[in-house]
Order: sequence, then C-alpha cells, then structure tokens
Amino acid sequence: MNSIQTKSYSVHFNSNCYTQLNAYIDNGAFSKIFILVDSNTHEYCLSKFMSQLQTEIPFEIIEIEAGEHNKTIDTCVGVWNALSELDADRKGLMINLGGGVVTDLGGFVACTFKRGIKYINVPTSLLAMVDASVGGKTGVDLGVLKNQIGVINSGDMVLIDTSFLDTLPQNQLKSGLAEMLKHGLIYDRIYWNKLKDLSQLTLNDLDTLIYESVEIKKDIVTKDPLENGLRKHLNFGHTLGHAIESYFLSHDKKEDLLHGEAVAIGMVLECYLSSELLGFSKEDLEEITTTINTIYKPVNIQDSDYNAIIELLKYDKKNEHGNINFVLLKNIGEPKVNCLVDNLLIINAFEYYNIKIK
Ligand code: NAD
Ligand code: ZN
Repeated sequence: MNSIQTKSYSVHFNSNCYTQLNAYIDNGAFSKIFILVDSNTHEYCLSKFMSQLQTEIPFEIIEIEAGEHNKTIDTCVGVWNALSELDADRKGLMINLGGGVVTDLGGFVACTFKRGIKYINVPTSLLAMVDASVGGKTGVDLGVLKNQIGVINSGDMVLIDTSFLDTLPQNQLKSGLAEMLKHGLIYDRIYWNKLKDLSQLTLNDLDTLIYESVEIKKDIVTKDPLENGLRKHLNFGHTLGHAIESYFLSHDKKEDLLHGEAVAIGMVLECYLSSELLGFSKEDLEEITTTINTIYKPVNIQDSDYNAIIELLKYDKKNEHGNINFVLLKNIGEPKVNCLVDNLLIINAFEYYNIKIK
C-alpha cells in the first residue's frame, strides 16, 4: 500500500505521503503556502500536519467554519479575500486539510483564484479520503441544492494519512463507510463481501479497505473524468440519497442526517428498485438491507414526506430532458445507468425501507 499514480495526479498513503509532499513542495517553486482548515481540523489535524511539513516557504492558515451549511459562495468570497489580503500570487499553493467541505470548497477557490493556482488535498474525514478528495469535482452548494456551482479540476496530489481518523466522530466514520459500501456494490462483489463482514469497525481493518476503496474510485474517474458514462455509476444510492438529504436539510427536521447516512438509505431504496425493475437478486437485497440497517440508525420517513422527497428528484444532476435517471444494479458489481422509475415504485421502496427498520 503506497501510491496510486496516474498521469495527471497522484494519491499517496500513510508512511509515503509526507515524503512525497515535501518533495513536491521542494520542486514547486511556490511563493507561499495557504493551508485551508475548518474549525475542527484546525483543532485536531493542523499540528500533526505541520509537524510533517519540511519547508522554508512561508505559509498562512486560512480557517472557515465547519459544516455543510458553510459550503457556500459567501465562504468562498471570504477565502478569496483572505488570499488577496495575504498577497497570494499565481505561484501560491493551497493545501486543503479537512473533510469534503474543505476539499470541495478549497479546490474550487484555488481553481478560480487568479484563474487558478495549484492545490493539493489532505483529506481528514473518511468520506473525503475515499470519495470527495479524489476525482477532481470541486464546488459549493446553492441554497439547499448541493454542488450546483463548481468546476472539475483535480489538484496535483492527494495525501491520505489514515491516522487523522483517530479524532473523527463515529457518525462521521459511518458516513464515509457508506461510500465504501457503494464502491463494493457498484464495482466488486469481493470487496463488498469484505465490508459486509466487518461486524465491528476497527481502525486497523480500515486501512487496507480505504486503500482499495480509493483504487476503485480512482479507476472509475480516471477512465471517465467528465462523467460521460462509467463515472455515473458512482451516483448509485445518490439519486434518492441526495433528495432525502436535501429534504432533511431544508425542513430543519428532527433528524440530523449526514450525507453518507442519507446515501445508505438511498442504496437500500435503489436496491429495492433494482430488484423490481432489473431482476436484482432478492437475496442480495435482503443482505444489503440487513447490513445497512445494522450499521446505520433507522430514519423516520413518513408517508407525508414521500411526495416532497420525490419532488426534490427533479433537481438531480443526472436528469435529462425532464427524466429522472437512476443508476440501478443488475447484480452486485454490475450497474445500469439511465433507468427510468415510476413514482409509485419509489413509494413502494419507501414502504419496503419502513418495514425493514421496524
Ligand atoms: P465535512 O467536511 O463537513 O466533515 C465532517 C465533519 O468532520 C466536520 O465537522 C469536520 O470539521 C469534521 N472533521 C473532519 N476531519 C476531522 C478529523 N480528522 N477529526 C475531527 N473532526 C474532523 O464533511 P465530509 O463528510 O467529510 O464531506 C462531505 C462533503 O463532501 C459534502 O459537501 C459532499 O458534497 C462532498 N463530496 C464531494 C465529492 C466529490 O467528488 N467532490 C464526493 C463526495 C462528497
Ligand atoms: Zn456521496
């Protein structure tokens, strides 16, 4: 377990990552380094990171408030202003040290400041390690609608130091795990089997599994960086997952639902749809539902919520010509894109989920 290299950017793991970082900075002729953190990664991750950085180049810390509700253009304006006041020029380097909010927003800020400065991602949440920091999608939300503004641009490097996970809250760990489960379901039954057998999640087991998950994500995005085909597979669980997430955000609901928790429910619902429409095995559906319901807390989605959630599907980024396009599964590891689904079947899926969490 070391590095995954492609021609455009590289992902480095654990013991190898700081050697690579210091060599990259040495060779970069950067004028200044700007380390973007949020309030939590400032507290929990920054000093560990700084202790590994060996450079004479001056650096500045820029901090944003933690949380998805800060992934906005207003926050970007704050960071652009900070860069400007700190005399950032085009030879500046941004290092995004944080979860997906910091890597998405920091990447976008870097790609747009003075028409683009270099950036690298140092993900500190599990979700950012296995998903957000790899693949070049950067951006911010527009109101409750996620990731509406952004650009695709991979930074030069991703450094994955899994020891950052030591301070990550358990619910955030589970949120990231959902993306790993997704990687198994869309790509590789063997990988899914390893994950589903993890009765008790320990950080040691996670290291290898994280590496494999990043390999899967990187393989997919390298083959299809602009999401013309294969990359759409990564949206499995996210059509309904995003709608549920937006619904709970916009309704300031009793539930505080994390992205991965919403995606986990989305995967159960979309496996149900797969079994109804594509002959996905009922046995696999049951196994996936049980696995997910063992890991994640049940979420109370009531009859009165169904239509409002379905209504939100119209904002899904995969929609074309007014149709909602689902990614469903023929089998584990065998997704099918552009599946059209009747609203009635979606309601049946909600009902299936509700019966299974009882
Ligand atoms: P996040 O960045 O909000 O991090 C979750 C929480 O954990 C935050 O409070 C953060 O401060 C805290 N945290 C992070 N690392 C920590 C650590 N080591 N110790 C203690 N606390 C820590 O959210 P996330 O779950 O990392 O990422 C979600 C975001 O990623 C969403 O905005 C989503 O849209 C985006 N995303 C992007 C892509 C992509 O391809 N670009 C893919 C998936 C998700
Ligand atoms: Zn996701």
